[in-house]
Amino acid sequence: MRFRCYEQLLASRGAAVCEIEHPPPPGADVECEGPIRGTIKLTNVGSHIRAVGTLRVAVRVSCSRCLTPMLAPVEMEIDEECQLTQIDEPDAYEATAEDIAETPILDDDIIDLSELVRQNLVVNLPTSPLCRPECPGLCPQCGQNLNEGQCDCSTEHIDPRLAKLRELLDGESTKGSG
Ligand SMILES: [Zn+2]
Ligand SMILES: [Zn+2]
Repeated sequence: MRFRCYEQLLASRGAAVCEIEHPPPPGADVECEGPIRGTIKLTNVGSHIRAVGTLRVAVRVSCSRCLTPMLAPVEMEIDEECQLTQIDEPDAYEATAEDIAETPILDDDIIDLSELVRQNLVVNLPTSPLCRPECPGLCPQCGQNLNEGQCDCSTEHIDPRLAKLRELLDGESTKGSG
């Protein structure tokens, strides 16, 4: 995500529009389907460079209930403060969320938006994606994916106190036989 627009940003109120159609930046720790697409407008507002734009990408995740692999759309509404300072080291990719303020975006005289995009991607990842809103998930007893049909387990609700008691009794009988 490298752009030759450094000179445009040097003047006060100088601006540049960066069209993004790039693979996900390194260190994002997520698999994406296709490139990240969108536009980021950079404006020199005096004390810093303001980056505003919207990016979209589909990420490969698993349904949080039934664990089926799926694609989830991610939309990043970006409005960040950046600095025309050097991205010195690859360690910048290990930066934590607290460092989001004033992200450095300069690599020699090239504007590099990889770190800015990486941070925004990471904070916008879906936390509990669902393959469909009414996904019934997995059977807690046999692990059957209930999207694919009912299993043979008893559907009656087991009182958790009785379940605990049964566990204890089972433990006793194991001891006795061993
Ligand atoms: Zn599911
Ligand atoms: Zn079952």
